[in-house]
Amino acid sequence: MLRAAVLLAFAAAPLVAQTRPPITAEVRPFVAVDAPVVALTHVRLIDGTGAPPREDQTVVINGTQITAVGPSATTTPPAGARVIDLTGHSVTPGLVGLHEHTYFGGVRRITQMSTSAPLLYLAFGVTTAMTAGSMLPYQELAMKRAVDLGRTPGPDFRITGPYLDGASARSTNARALASPEEVKRVITYWADEGATWVKVQGTISRATLRDVVREAHARGVKVTGHLCSITFAEAAELGLDALQHGFITASDYVPGKQPDACPAGNMRVQTDVDVASAEVQASIRALAGTKTAVVSTLAVYETFSPERFQIDTASLEMLDPEVRREVEANYANIAKGGLIVTNGLLQKMMRWERDFVAAGGLLGAGSDPWGTGFLPGYGNVRNYEMLLEAGFSPAAAIQVLTLNGARILGLDARIGAVTVGRQADLVVVRGDPVQRPRDLYNVVTVFRAGVGYDAAKLKDAARGLVGVR
Ligand SMILES: [Zn+2]
Repeated sequence: MLRAAVLLAFAAAPLVAQTRPPITAEVRPFVAVDAPVVALTHVRLIDGTGAPPREDQTVVINGTQITAVGPSATTTPPAGARVIDLTGHSVTPGLVGLHEHTYFGGVRRITQMSTSAPLLYLAFGVTTAMTAGSMLPYQELAMKRAVDLGRTPGPDFRITGPYLDGASARSTNARALASPEEVKRVITYWADEGATWVKVQGTISRATLRDVVREAHARGVKVTGHLCSITFAEAAELGLDALQHGFITASDYVPGKQPDACPAGNMRVQTDVDVASAEVQASIRALAGTKTAVVSTLAVYETFSPERFQIDTASLEMLDPEVRREVEANYANIAKGGLIVTNGLLQKMMRWERDFVAAGGLLGAGSDPWGTGFLPGYGNVRNYEMLLEAGFSPAAAIQVLTLNGARILGLDARIGAVTVGRQADLVVVRGDPVQRPRDLYNVVTVFRAGVGYDAAKLKDAARGLVGVR
């Protein structure tokens, strides 16, 4: 009898768990579409799986889930569905960001963006956002809680907690870990507080990273890193889950690299590395054969390139006026900055990522907002244009931004693609980002778990706040 009841309960359970914050009075003004059944008809669909874009499709949403996807000619909206004719529009899965910050760094006063970051991420289609290091971890946790409780619209945040580093850390923003006991205490603490990832920084030793990975994995927490002291090959061997930034931070290729030491000027040394060389190509193939993923952050590095970076006036409008003046001064002095990324180096980063994917490696992407004028949401979309420049097809670039990210987070059974049975996280854009990449900025509606949010209202609510709130 008990056995039968258990089986019945199992059979009645939904295919996959769904997450949907409540629509409260605070969130309601941002909601454009909230109906039990919704049919988006006549859309161009880039579904996130890497399949070629398909014209004139219909996507049916029932509650939180996608229940039908097919040609509009043969996919009839269910009786009673709210039918939205989206001729001239395109649909992609909700973006999955893997290097998101909710503080604004790179300016004199670091602030938590608990109001503007959730709004801007969602406004540009980011429905799942893994933070990659927090400066103000309790404010970040409180921000996630506000989204989960329906006090503000925002993406499904996955929180990393504070930056972690090794005992020799000179950084003043990281927890320097000196012993296995400390590692266990700190990881246990942040796992209990809700972190599902931890982020390590660039002077950690192999022994300490081994401890971090062991303790994190024992708690079901994954580990990402912006490395320097540890090579990509060593990190993969130690079981790191995701390497941030790709080629520019890989110390594998630095001549005379000493174990556990971050070589001086690491990121500049890469300018002289030949990505086409047999040595680098072999390292790419070896890394692609491991379980360690890579997170592309091409677009933020472009903001350190005097040859290339054009500050975006639309994103400048989102800044607090005082912070805006500071960002504009940063831009005016870009060539005198501490980090200069040449176009040649960017091209090497692009080639390395393309070859990594061609070799079977798992590549996701994140924005890494920064005081160079690089904002949440805008940065995630800019990555799409950069991945196209790197040689990915539109479908492959969208896959990096969506389903691959979901795979890295271990959420791909539920999110990351516009397919039947997955959660209805999707982005409606005006135009055709296959033919005109910039059209991906023209977000009209963002669906998170079947609820459609008005992108323009989300942006309006964030205007003038970035850098302060
Ligand atoms: Zn970062």
